[in-house]
Amino acid sequence: MEKIPRTMRAVVYRGANDLRLETVPVPRIGPDELLVRVAACGVCPTDIKKIQSGALPPPRIFGHETAGVIALAGGRVRKFRVGERVALHHHVPCQDCHACRHRAFAQCAQYKRTGITAGFEPAGGGYAEYVRVMPFVFPGIVRIPSRNTFEEGAMLEPVNTVLKAINRLALLPGDHVLVTGQGPIGLLFTRLLSLQRMKVIASDLLPPRLRMARQFGAVSVVLGADEQFARSVRRATGKKGLDAAVICAPADASVRQAQALVNGAGRILLFAHTHRGAATSVDLASICVDEKDLIGSYSSDVTLQPSAAHWVFSRALDVRRLITHRFPLEQTPAAVALAARPSADSLKVMVMPSVPTACPKH
Ligand SMILES: [Zn+2]
Ligand SMILES: [Zn+2]
Repeated sequence: MEKIPRTMRAVVYRGANDLRLETVPVPRIGPDELLVRVAACGVCPTDIKKIQSGALPPPRIFGHETAGVIALAGGRVRKFRVGERVALHHHVPCQDCHACRHRAFAQCAQYKRTGITAGFEPAGGGYAEYVRVMPFVFPGIVRIPSRNTFEEGAMLEPVNTVLKAINRLALLPGDHVLVTGQGPIGLLFTRLLSLQRMKVIASDLLPPRLRMARQFGAVSVVLGADEQFARSVRRATGKKGLDAAVICAPADASVRQAQALVNGAGRILLFAHTHRGAATSVDLASICVDEKDLIGSYSSDVTLQPSAAHWVFSRALDVRRLITHRFPLEQTPAAVALAARPSADSLKVMVMPSVPTACPKH
């Protein structure tokens, strides 16, 4: 068994845009809990938003797309053992309340609690060397197969959120779907929709991302700045029109455009509009008469963890190609800055708090 130090390094949020590398106590665990040494943690747009806005009271340790090695297991834990390589899941619903019976997991009171912490108010804790994992999030823990990397494990959470959103679209194979924005999330949509035999038309402002979208299965790509955008999309569907559109970039113009572009009874799904107060005009008859549904999807669905694990670990969805930048823990502020303002060649950014000894060759 590895020796657990008393203190560790962690990147602590001390206010808006104020992340500091500090020495903090290694979390103590209870008899039903786990201590996990963090190997990889993805930088997620929702963390960026929290860090930049300063809306949540500090101090906190963010980072929730976490994978690592179990360093210590409480005396009553039977399901997991020290040394196992695991992907963590920080929000797990009770599956028993009014919201959960409607499968509205993100609205469940237990779901809104964060079950993983590196100290302070639980906030994920992945930007630290160790995290404490509470028992109510155990149903979301997945063992990482020996041939897969920690980084692949850390991608399960974002993949899960995309699978949940795709399910809300209720598509049939062969349907045409526009995915606007081909960042890491948009590319996950493109690949997962393609794997489920939907025909994806991908759009983005950056040509390198469109090349990537093709490699991820898009049948057509359209440059976001295309003056004939609507016509190009329509042509890409063989004049059949769109069954759905997924908006992965927080541009309000794309919502209006998608509302005009989808066929009657089509769906427009918002995935990136997380800022409160954003408003846009919508022709309400397009909803009432044309039955175009404007819907959203937020966060994950723990019941989809097995299928997220299947797609990622089988590498049918090869997330390794999305990970372009890795930063050591002390450079977390630079990792967050890059993810907030992606460059032409940057996609998913990872923070690597430690290199566990149980790491297989890859
Ligand atoms: Zn996330
Ligand atoms: Zn519930």
